[in-house]
Amino acid sequence: MSTAIISHFDCRRHKMTDGHPEDPARIDAVSDRLIASGLEYSLDHFDAKPVNKADLLRVHDSLYLAELEEMLPSEGLVNVDADTQMCPNTLKAAVRSAGAGVQAVDLVYGSDHKAVFCNVRPPGHHAERAKAGGFCFYNNIAVAAAYALEKLSLERVAIVDFDVHHGNGTEDIFRDNDQVMFCSAFQHPLFPYSDISTPNPLHIKAPLKAGAGSQEFRNAVEEYWLPALREFKPQLLFISAGFDAHRDDDMAEMNLEDSDYSWVTGQLVDLSHELNCEGIVSMLEGGYVPDALGRSVVAHVRSLAGL
Ligand SMILES: [Zn+2]
Repeated sequence: MSTAIISHFDCRRHKMTDGHPEDPARIDAVSDRLIASGLEYSLDHFDAKPVNKADLLRVHDSLYLAELEEMLPSEGLVNVDADTQMCPNTLKAAVRSAGAGVQAVDLVYGSDHKAVFCNVRPPGHHAERAKAGGFCFYNNIAVAAAYALEKLSLERVAIVDFDVHHGNGTEDIFRDNDQVMFCSAFQHPLFPYSDISTPNPLHIKAPLKAGAGSQEFRNAVEEYWLPALREFKPQLLFISAGFDAHRDDDMAEMNLEDSDYSWVTGQLVDLSHELNCEGIVSMLEGGYVPDALGRSVVAHVRSLAGL
């Protein structure tokens, strides 16, 4: 059983305003730290394939996809929201980012890779069925989960999301779906200011106050996520892996440590074994301070790989 990492050079080609925190250097911060840690050499590497339109259409409206293509500038930037811009290469990056998740599902089911981490950007969990925003265009994790359900005829999959921001896009896409459990823990109140009620009983939300750290996060995972996941029994586990709840990340005010990412990943790996899940597909979401991001991903991937 081995662990794979999927990335693509095109993920570096999407660039928003100068100084924007969702920067191409994030990809390098992750890959450089994987090399420096020595972990890189224990992983199998794959270049992300581009996503097919049919795979995007399971979770996004066709009109929305056409609008994104029409908005794409031939030069310069266009604003999608106050903090999100498209450059001429944005969709080149986005198709690789979304394609990586589909490819990861195929690896889990078609090879001995039972854990896959996708080092990709732009991130995806704020992209709704018909709305971009929060640095996101295609909802990568939703594309992958919907692909797994349909192509592999799975009955139940789960997405867990430990990014400091709530995954409003993932919630929107699977709002009426009874095949997808969506567990999140996030700072509240904070962008995207989601309603913390849960109309879909499969959407498990653990809002945490500014200043929350290891203990509050671990309590939330143990109290909210793990019992719900045990009862739901997903066949495949997805992780929206954002690392911006780290204490060194100034995007929010949570105080997680590198070791919390090891811990939560270990909990999910153990659970996937207990429930006989086929594997785990993890995709990069947020995480904006290069040093903390790189260290946190190493902690996460080391646990994913069982090392
Ligand atoms: Zn985030």
